[in-house]
Amino acid sequence: MVQVKKSKPLAVCNVCGAFSNEYQDVNHRCTKALYGRRCSGAFRSSLGLSWDQCIACAATGKVGSETCVECSGWGWHLMG
Ligand SMILES: [Zn+2]
Ligand SMILES: [Zn+2]
Repeated sequence: MVQVKKSKPLAVCNVCGAFSNEYQDVNHRCTKALYGRRCSGAFRSSLGLSWDQCIACAATGKVGSETCVECSGWGWHLMG
């Protein structure tokens, strides 16, 4: 089975670094919880950010039939 490369996440939280693939999340409050409290960050468009494809899964988000643990299945890491 050929794995298809994932597209880069659309949005990144400016506080916790969470990724989102929802257009509606851009410029909206982050939905993640950190230490039991809702993250105070907001999702920012990932356009213009530099991405590295995950080496472990070659940006497919999968290693074999498992979700890649290196990138949590996103297939991409933010550079820096
Ligand atoms: Zn966040
Ligand atoms: Zn990966």
